[in-house]
Amino acid sequence: MKTISVYCGASHGADPLYAEAARARARALVEHNIGLVYGGGKVGLMGVIADEVLRLGGEATGVIPKALVEREVGHAGLTRLFVVKDMHERKAMMSDLSEGFIAMPGGMGTLEELFEMVTWAQLGIHAKPVGLLNTKGFYDGLKAFVRHQREEGFVKPEHEGLMLVEEDPVALIRRLRAVAVPAAGEDVEGEILRG
Ligand code: AMP
Repeated sequence: MKTISVYCGASHGADPLYAEAARARARALVEHNIGLVYGGGKVGLMGVIADEVLRLGGEATGVIPKALVEREVGHAGLTRLFVVKDMHERKAMMSDLSEGFIAMPGGMGTLEELFEMVTWAQLGIHAKPVGLLNTKGFYDGLKAFVRHQREEGFVKPEHEGLMLVEEDPVALIRRLRAVAVPAAGEDVEGEILRG
């Protein structure tokens, strides 16, 4: 895998642990030679992860809608910054640029972006892996809710595991790589967990 989109809060969250997790997420990407694709802003966890990737010498690509350049403080130091028309273009472009997706702790925007990629995987629009970085058990409630959806017959059993959940950033990258469909000539690490 060469690039992963990371969706994360435009806020820092109440606990400094979330910013620390964003820096650890950045380190794990750079150590695995994976470029960051993200929302292109400087605010909240978005800014923390991009700054850390750049500080470590990695590649950070931002995709930001025109209307948000001021509100989310478009990051001027990125490897690449695409300014696009609207939110739809942002999500489509982030998806096109990435071979996998990770949601860090975040708010409504993070969930919106995450669920678009999960539903596209469910519909077979893409076959790229989706992971949740479960810092401090942040996504335990979501995991339990998806189980409830499956038990109540609204989520198919084979779709319940579409979101790979790990607390450790390196373990999450390993799981994403294990299920990613390899590009021609690319080596796969780890066991195949799905499919
Ligand atoms: P939040 O998780 O609410 O802090 O938002 C995180 C990021 O999601 C921010 O960069 C928002 O601009 C972005 N966002 C919110 N709604 C959407 C949307 N409908 N499409 C694309 N990005 C969005």
